[in-house]
Amino acid sequence: MKRVLLLLPTSSYRNDDFLAAARRIGVEIVAANNYCHQLAPAWGMGPIMALHFDQPAQAAETVLREINGPLDGVLAVDDSGVELAALLCERLGLPGNPAPAVRLLRDKLLFRRLLADKGCAHPAFRHLPTGEDPRSLLSELTFPVVVKARRLSASCGVIRADDAASLMEAVARVRAIQGRSDRDAAALGIVVEDFIPGSEYALEGILAHGELTVLALFDKPDPLDGPFFEETLYITPSRLPAAIQARIHDEVARVCRAAGLVTGPIHAEMRVNAEGVWMLEVAPRSIGGLCGRILEHLLGMSLEALILRHLVGDPLPLAAASDGAGVMMIPIPRHGVFDRVQGVAAAQAVPGVTGVTITAQAGQSLSPPPAGSSYLGFIFARAASPEVAEAALRQAHAQLRFEIRTGLPVAATA
Ligand code: ADP
Repeated sequence: MKRVLLLLPTSSYRNDDFLAAARRIGVEIVAANNYCHQLAPAWGMGPIMALHFDQPAQAAETVLREINGPLDGVLAVDDSGVELAALLCERLGLPGNPAPAVRLLRDKLLFRRLLADKGCAHPAFRHLPTGEDPRSLLSELTFPVVVKARRLSASCGVIRADDAASLMEAVARVRAIQGRSDRDAAALGIVVEDFIPGSEYALEGILAHGELTVLALFDKPDPLDGPFFEETLYITPSRLPAAIQARIHDEVARVCRAAGLVTGPIHAEMRVNAEGVWMLEVAPRSIGGLCGRILEHLLGMSLEALILRHLVGDPLPLAAASDGAGVMMIPIPRHGVFDRVQGVAAAQAVPGVTGVTITAQAGQSLSPPPAGSSYLGFIFARAASPEVAEAALRQAHAQLRFEIRTGLPVAATA
């Protein structure tokens, strides 16, 4: 039986899906958890290692000391563990991505510098170190701009600013969010870059020996114009013309090569406009949340099973379904405490809807981006075409009534 070290974040929608996939395909999992081993009993697993994923060098030493027996692979469930996974693969002589490449891609400033160095399309960007007055940038900025934390995800700490006053506000807010979420916040500073107009897409793929295979290209049909960028709909197959889809594939493959990635899942996000394809992110991980579940029929197995099989060198029989599928990450309408939701049965009854999963827990405090990075839940649909899948998701969402109590004032939490 193949043996894989799985790096589980403290809270992820996907830990269970990876564990279930491992059981199904017969891979033994050694689990390591970010910080907190209290979660282990809930997963019904044996001993679990608790590691600081954000201190990969130190965490790698702990693994090498405590791991008993050989491993066939190391896999991170999400962004938080990718650098540690890469480092461990290097140390254990397992196939993996170079740790410096992975570190670079997790950092929005270093990613922009990579694109600039390699001649890939990128917006003008500037680094604003901690403590530096954003007014120092005013003479070189053309509004609108986007202010970003360097290493957060799910649109947390990303705000559009349209003028000097909103820039000041956005910088203060992004600094506060990053300060709470990243232990290196002070040393990192933030990024201020030009706003890229256009429509947005996401590519899910897998790299083998440096070659990129696209598993799915998603349209994001809801406009993401800011000032905050909460994701909602992902619909596949994309309705973009084939030539633009091919261009997206080529650009993602080019950035993977430029960064030095060679293997494993790839999740990329990009904007497309008349001037071309603009990468927002190319990450050595798979799609977040429960979104990957809509790919199961298309792949002929769960995305998690596919990633694990790839990791241990099993062949990947790629089935190709071409009907429409989509997922809605149910947006959080406002900051507050989640009480309950009504209308789930009605939403589930909408033709084409294959599931409604509410992940928010009663009593949970929720914030939409830019302060929060979670969702109320997910709606899944499958239909004859992407148009019909999208309409089903919108109709199902309209059935849901979320009861959210006013919580602490946002200023106290964001
Ligand atoms: P994260 O990794 O937190 O999702 P991103 O850099 O991908 O951070 O930004 C989140 C979202 O913010 C993007 O999906 C996009 O909608 C928007 N965004 C980010 N940068 C820009 C930009 N330069 N121009 C326009 N929109 C942007």
